[in-house]
Formats: sequence, C-alpha cells, structure tokens
Amino acid sequence: MPDRLVLLGSKGGPALRPGGPWPSSSLLEIGGRTIVVDCGLGVTRGLVDAGLSLKALDLVFITHLHSDHVLELGSLIHTAWTAGLAAPVTIFGPPGTGHYWRRFCQAMEFDIEIRIADEGRPDIRDLVSIDEFGEGDVLRQRGLNVSALRVDHPPVTDCFALRFEHGGKSMVFSADTAFFPPLADFAEGADILVHEAMLEEGIERLVARTGNGARLREHLLASHSFAEEAGRIATDAGVTRLVLNHLIPADDAEIGDADWVAAVRKTWAGDLTIARDGLVVELA
Ligand SMILES: [Zn+2]
Ligand SMILES: [Zn+2]
Repeated sequence: MPDRLVLLGSKGGPALRPGGPWPSSSLLEIGGRTIVVDCGLGVTRGLVDAGLSLKALDLVFITHLHSDHVLELGSLIHTAWTAGLAAPVTIFGPPGTGHYWRRFCQAMEFDIEIRIADEGRPDIRDLVSIDEFGEGDVLRQRGLNVSALRVDHPPVTDCFALRFEHGGKSMVFSADTAFFPPLADFAEGADILVHEAMLEEGIERLVARTGNGARLREHLLASHSFAEEAGRIATDAGVTRLVLNHLIPADDAEIGDADWVAAVRKTWAGDLTIARDGLVVELA
C-alpha cells in the first residue's frame, strides 16, 4: 500500500454545526505502520470510512489535551477492542494522557468487565500502553523516527508539533500553535507540513455567532496562526507541500477554498492542499 495521509477531521475547535466538518484527527500510513494523529470527535468513523480495519490500529499520537484533539481517544481504542484488536496499541501523548486513559477505563468499567467475563475478551487495560512524551525524540522503531517540538499554544503548555520520518520521507504536524518561527527549523525539508490556519476575515463573523465573543477572539489571536503565517513557516522550512488544516472558521458559507488560497499565496508559492474531511494526500 502506498504511503498516504488522510485528513479525517479538518476543522479547528470542538463545536459541530449541521453540514460542517469535524474536529482534528488524521491517519498517517507510512512504512507499513498505521498511525493516528489526534483523536477529535469523529476519528473512529473517519478511520472506518478511510478503509482501515480498526484491528490494525498500531500507534496513536495526541498533540495536546484540548478536547477537539482527544475527546474520542478512549472511544476509538474501546471500539477497536470490540472489533477484535489483538496486538498492543501504544498511545503517545503529553503529560496527563495516562490520567485520561485510566479515568476513561474507570468510566467504562461496567462494560469492560462484562465483556471480559461474558465474551472472553482480553483485558483492554493490558492491550494499551501509554507513553507520555516531552520535547525531543519520541520514538525510534523499525526505521520509524518520531520527534516532538513544544509549540506556542497558551494557556496549554504541553502542546507538541510532531515530525514523522521513514525511508527518507518526512511529515510534520504543527499541532495548534500561534506563529512560531522555530517550527520552520523543525519542519526543514519535510515532504508535507500539515499546519493549522485561521482566516482573518472569518474570525469576526465566527466570534459574532458563537457568543462569548471578546474572550474567544483573544484566545484565537494568542494561540493560533493565520494562513499567511502558516505559509511563512512552510517557505522558511523549504517543505514540498503545505496542507492547511484545523481551519478556523471551517464552516462559514462565505468562505471557500479560494479565500484560503488567496491568503496563503502571499507567503507560500509551493504545492498546496486545503484540508477537508476524508481528503487523501499521497506521499509521492
Ligand atoms: Zn484545536
Ligand atoms: Zn488546542
């Protein structure tokens, strides 16, 4: 199977609206490994729609513990378990990931115990290991190298961009971050940079219809990047393709791909993909 990236959920933030896209999750298939990056709501459905057997789940990475990146982590693993997951899964996440997982298993204790006793399933708690990582090398295994860079996403301090390398190919996820120049060094020469992005003209309308306007605007400006800034990072890093993802706003009828392209073309002249749910990007 060719190496590929599937953008399962492409919107920024946890809110869902009729007909709109879903929160953050991606599937990365590289060097025969099945890697899920972030587990926002909809990740399980997205993986099944992408043709993945949940039994094949292998590695899961969480960039940070905001709900639009982690809300469906437990449900994904639990569903894979009921689908017959036999091999161990490792979840890599920031500090606090183990706490989340243990509490999830406690919340589901009735169901877990009854399926072990009634259906003879292995104990899900023995099938999952948690690896809480910080900045630097995260994993070196069978030719797959993963490293992390702490990015700028206040008030969350443990938020990490991730770089995946295998067989001379590389892919970088920015995670959620304000404009953060060190990301250009971290992403240097990558085949694909998946960077979060907001569109300036959409922010005011988003703030107006969400309520709690002033605080939301303040959070967005302090913690996220404009499309032009994502383009700047891609140019400075010299990547091959930029994928704009975690789009804010993602479901404004007044805003289409052309608006994102116009914004990012001010700073980026290379290959460009604007994410939408289910979109496949092949790693040539
Ligand atoms: Zn987010
Ligand atoms: Zn976030």
